[in-house]
Amino acid sequence: MTTTAPSPTTETYLVGHWVDGAQIEAEPARTAPVFNPATGAQVGRVALAGAEEVDAAVRSAVAAQRVWGGLSLAKRAAVLFRFRELLAAHTDELARVISREHGKVLSDARGEVARGLEVVEHACGLPQLLKGELSDEAATGIEVFTLREPLGVVAGVTPFNFPAMVPLWMSPVAIATGNAFVLKPSERDPSAANVLARLWQEAGLPDGVFTVVHGDKDTVTALIEHPDVAAVSFVGSTPIARQVHAAASAAGKRVQALGGAKNHGVVLADADLSDAADHLTAAAYGSAGERCMALSVAVVAEEVADELVALLAERARAVRVAPGDHPDADMGPVITAAAKERIEGLIGSAEREGASLVVDGRGLVVEGHEEGFFVGPTLIDHVATDHEVYREEVFGPVLDVVRVADLDEAIDVVNANPYGNGTAIFTSSGAAAREFRRRVQVGMVGVNVPIPVPVAWHSFGGWKDSMFGDSPIYGPEGVRFCTRAKVTTQRWPARKVAASFHFSGDGEK
Ligand code: NAD
Repeated sequence: MTTTAPSPTTETYLVGHWVDGAQIEAEPARTAPVFNPATGAQVGRVALAGAEEVDAAVRSAVAAQRVWGGLSLAKRAAVLFRFRELLAAHTDELARVISREHGKVLSDARGEVARGLEVVEHACGLPQLLKGELSDEAATGIEVFTLREPLGVVAGVTPFNFPAMVPLWMSPVAIATGNAFVLKPSERDPSAANVLARLWQEAGLPDGVFTVVHGDKDTVTALIEHPDVAAVSFVGSTPIARQVHAAASAAGKRVQALGGAKNHGVVLADADLSDAADHLTAAAYGSAGERCMALSVAVVAEEVADELVALLAERARAVRVAPGDHPDADMGPVITAAAKERIEGLIGSAEREGASLVVDGRGLVVEGHEEGFFVGPTLIDHVATDHEVYREEVFGPVLDVVRVADLDEAIDVVNANPYGNGTAIFTSSGAAAREFRRRVQVGMVGVNVPIPVPVAWHSFGGWKDSMFGDSPIYGPEGVRFCTRAKVTTQRWPARKVAASFHFSGDGEK
């Protein structure tokens, strides 16, 4: 691995809530520090909303939704189209903001905006998405039609690792379907949310339809408990997803809660090993492994394991680790000093529990960035499924290798894991890939595709401990989540229809 050059920042700023079309500049009662993970320095502060600020934000959203939800589909679609153009034009600005607070490399930050852009494009088709269904002559002289109406105010709570993409998974669909959207972004990299708010406003979205309340656990609790929040869309770690799902359900809210992951990349003996090693390396160490779809476990057929591990080690050592704004960086720092310490602790546990540390990323120092939160790419062979490094979601640049005899054992390993977000298989056998796809208990499956994030017109959602609630996010499932069906049965009789005391069995009403 290589280390590299400085990109110091001396800026400090306050990230305030965005309510009613403007950032609140007044000094907040509570704040949290915001760091640049590449330098380890604090670069700003973010406001933390309490129940009062949440109430003011939700009241503004309720008022705005009444107007927005009543606008024609054409007027709403026009705003979505303008937002799409602005987002594309401001991709570089967003990428710089993301990279400074998250640490990911600029090209990857641009990629996250591009994936969000796809969801906006899907939401631009809202007239098509909201057409509804009609049965003519459902009974004599009667038609029945189903329309999907907005819920009101939808709250979104998002994780640090995709500060633009995850809000863009949620907000375009919620807004296109006629809701107001209140975003509670991660307090660790909050600035991208305010850039999105500004772009929505420039696109012509009425003030209050897209709102940002920054904050922490207390802010999320206030949102969940607010009587005017109709639905909660959450993306984050599994323990919090489970809690948010339970609390929002108990409060009578519609809730989707996407959690953490442990994604397995299965490599069969007939795979192109060099190709598999390239993809595993990028999918394990890209964004410093801080992706819910990162491949963090390679499940490898024993007969090719030595050869594949050698290829993986060579590639891990060649990963260029540097601040995210360095032009040659493959991978930046992890998000916080605490995350670095935790990841290094898990690497140490693997060594103590008997796994083989092939490439050790602990103690990496990037020249000029000695205080940055860097962990180097780490490759661990002979990992057993009871090792702590396997059981935990590491969420860092660590790839475990679990050796198996064959496809059957590989499927057993994947299915025994409590998570079920994504998985991939590398093989040249269509029959093996088909067998894997049909038997694996995971929501998103890649066949020779390492990170199978669905395109925007499908939907994103894991299984088991990777998602609580029954509704995946964006795409057709997202439209359903953000709307509720109203069914109308109507008759415009030309002559009097006799009333009846019983249901008729022939479809007559
Ligand atoms: P996190 O669970 O710590 O935080 C997520 C959000 O919840 C943040 O906005 C945070 O402020 C808030 N929060 C934190 N503690 C809370 C509490 N006790 N009650 C209510 N809200 C609380 O997650 P993170 O560290 O920001 O993000 C990384 C995690 O997110 C990883 O586990 C990753 O796998 C997961 N993730 C999942 C997906 C997916 O689609 N399944 C996508 C991205 C990230």
